[in-house]
Amino acid sequence: MSWINSSIAVLMPYVPKWFARPFAKPYVAGESIESVTEIVRSINRNGFSTTLDILGEHIHTPSEANKILDQYIDLIKNISSKNLDSTISIKLTHLGLSLDQQLTKKNFTELVTVAKNYNIGITIDMENSTYTTKTFKFFNKGLEIHEDVGTVIQAYLHRSLDDLKELDSSKLNLRICKGIYSESPEIAIQGRKKINDNFVKLAEALLLGQGYACLATHDLELIDQLEELINKYNISKDRFEFQVLFGVPMGNRLELLKDKGYKIRIYVPFGEAWFDYSIRRLKENPKIISYILTNIFKK
Ligand SMILES: Cc1cc2nc3c(=O)[nH]c(=O)nc-3n(C[C@H](O)[C@H](O)[C@H](O)COP(=O)(O)OP(=O)(O)OC[C@H]3O[C@@H](n4cnc5c(N)ncnc54)[C@H](O)[C@@H]3O)c2cc1C
Repeated sequence: MSWINSSIAVLMPYVPKWFARPFAKPYVAGESIESVTEIVRSINRNGFSTTLDILGEHIHTPSEANKILDQYIDLIKNISSKNLDSTISIKLTHLGLSLDQQLTKKNFTELVTVAKNYNIGITIDMENSTYTTKTFKFFNKGLEIHEDVGTVIQAYLHRSLDDLKELDSSKLNLRICKGIYSESPEIAIQGRKKINDNFVKLAEALLLGQGYACLATHDLELIDQLEELINKYNISKDRFEFQVLFGVPMGNRLELLKDKGYKIRIYVPFGEAWFDYSIRRLKENPKIISYILTNIFKK
């Protein structure tokens, strides 16, 4: 299957958008604030929280970065005025980090200040390993302004356990995920079993520390292990939540977790940049093609 995945990923940028749309559609909540609002309302009605991400990363001009800042500010106001149970998730390269550090600082500070004023939480997504240290620095700066700022740690990075120990504090809100980018063996653990083992180690350190844990995975075996950990240490339900991406099939597992009284948050991406975003994701990780094809044919 891997050569089929890779071939489709290479060809995808050359196909028309109408052809690519079905591949992105299950995972993207439309292009506008109006479309995403309806989806969030229905997710909230079913007892789940959300975090909203405006699709895109690595903008090319300062004016693009400023436009994204304005869109996020509108999004925060919309979450607040419509009383949605949602935070936002941002990527620092979307606010300009691969272009201009000063501009990013300005945009980030303004965004975090608005989020504080409207009492909306922000998570800074983690991008490839070039940005790991910079992201933690922005996270610490953000916390000085607004206590509801969180970030992400990737279980595949060799450095993550040390990073987590350094970050640990009662203010820490940390999403643990496996990591989506292609990283070399010097930087990242390779292989599902070893990455899962490190995920569990990170979860254990975080749950036994002082912070709040966001356990972001669709891997059902890993969720079993995380539940064992939670039961073993009798971790209080207000110390953690489970997180999944919008559209990824989970069977009845989310309902089962909800019935146990666990908090669950769905990460909902939306926006005009759905095509470029989907293509980049496919190129970085052609394995996603198998997930999509399986979903299409299962339906
Ligand atoms: C809420 C959330 C936020 C995230 N934020 C970040 C981030 O900031 N930085 C970062 O590097 N990564 C992020 N990720 C992505 C993460 O790192 C993984 O790449 C991704 O979640 C797949 O890993 P998994 O834990 O689901 O396990 P896997 O072993 O990859 O997948 C387990 C099973 O889940 C299903 N599955 C997984 N992903 C998909 C998909 N996209 N579509 C359909 N089915 C799928 C498949 O059936 C697969 O067999 C995030 C993931 C989640 C859930």
